[in-house]
Amino acid sequence: MLTALLVMSAIALALGAALGYSAIRLKVEGNPLVDKIDAILPQTQCGQCGYPGCKPYAAAIASGEADINRCPPGGEEGIRKLADLLGVEFKPFGNETAGPKPKSVAFIDENVCIGCTLCIQACPVDAIAGAAKQMHTIIASECTGCELCVAPCPVNCISMVPLPQTPQTWKWQYPVYTLAPVK
Ligand code: SF4
Ligand code: SF4
Repeated sequence: MLTALLVMSAIALALGAALGYSAIRLKVEGNPLVDKIDAILPQTQCGQCGYPGCKPYAAAIASGEADINRCPPGGEEGIRKLADLLGVEFKPFGNETAGPKPKSVAFIDENVCIGCTLCIQACPVDAIAGAAKQMHTIIASECTGCELCVAPCPVNCISMVPLPQTPQTWKWQYPVYTLAPVK
């Protein structure tokens, strides 16, 4: 019995050591540039850039596959930060993507909601509370404003409500002109 126990412990130890070693040796190093770009993106995972989330879009920018002006929730400030990071020219939103939008949260008209749960299934950040055949409601503090829940709602009772501007969220509304140094 003791022998069996010792053998089992030795095997477990060996396997543990092998796993630890392979975890170190076979570790896939992330692309630091992708991580830096992803850190600038708003993490709404909304797909408005045409990619299935912020990280895939960051990878596409890093590989040169995608331009820096495809993220509406990030707005012009996001484009400016990406341009600074990559050392490229600022590029306004193009025709192929929707322009910047005011920061918004979803709102459910609870009198109309039929409790089908389709919005819950669409929400990438679990910002909707509700149960089957029960009223659903938005947890505004969790909502990123990605709008992914709006389209699936069969009774169109979800609307996007712009958040009131605060000193923290206030942004300069007018174009920014870079002044050329006087020679
Ligand atoms: S509630 Fe709607 S808008 Fe808000 S994060 Fe979820 S899916 Fe996006
Ligand atoms: S998709 Fe619309 S009707 Fe269905 S639970 Fe959500 S809010 Fe209610």
